Amino acid sequence: MNITTRNSPNQRAGRGGQTPDFIIMHTTGGSFAGALSWTLNPTAQVSYHFIVARDGAITQTVPIENTAWHAGTNNSGGSVDNRHSTIPAVRERRLNANSYSVGIEAVQSEIARRAKIHSARQVPQGQYPLTGMIKCGRCGVPYRRKHASAGSKYEKIVWICATYNTLGKAECASQQIPEDILMERIAEVGGLDMVEAIIVPDHFRLAFNMKNGRTVDAEWQHRSRRESWTAEMKTAAAEKAREHHGKNN
Ligand SMILES: [Zn+2]
Repeated sequence: MNITTRNSPNQRAGRGGQTPDFIIMHTTGGSFAGALSWTLNPTAQVSYHFIVARDGAITQTVPIENTAWHAGTNNSGGSVDNRHSTIPAVRERRLNANSYSVGIEAVQSEIARRAKIHSARQVPQGQYPLTGMIKCGRCGVPYRRKHASAGSKYEKIVWICATYNTLGKAECASQQIPEDILMERIAEVGGLDMVEAIIVPDHFRLAFNMKNGRTVDAEWQHRSRRESWTAEMKTAAAEKAREHHGKNN
């Protein structure tokens, strides 16, 4: 079998004393180029031992004897130990699953990809266009949609790391992002159709993995008071500025 080798910066030397005895298959609806560039990008903090293209071609980006970062746990081998995994065999081991698994990313066929998009659109319950697309750069777990401050006048929709949301800052000190700001940033990079995946590497930062294989880094800020001014407030301020200007002439 012909295997192309590339070296991902996203790996840890060795297995932390574990022997790999577990294979974790991931699938992506995106392109092979997108999956590969993401794995080779240090910002992504994501890697797989192997990426399998639609035509079956295999690229290895992490040696088996090293730890790849694909299993949604702390990449540095820290405190996150998969004890909340939905898979009993993983949950019971109380270990970072990255340390004892081989990660394979398989690019799905175009038909499967379309079926997935179609079904995602047909499942309204908790499914939004961004569901499954945003990954926490700190713990590797997907971001989920949440109504923050529900019931109060400050209620807004945010996206938040599921680890942070359920286990708190001690497990993952990541940051939630207002959905409106997220959608603005997505529009700036060309819209949702152009985006394969989004990673949140740090506070106020986003990294877009584009479908064309490129990576776009972006920053964001909370809306300033100025931006949240109403049109009325803006008109009043403009009038005041004109008056002031007039006095000086
Ligand atoms: Zn997280």
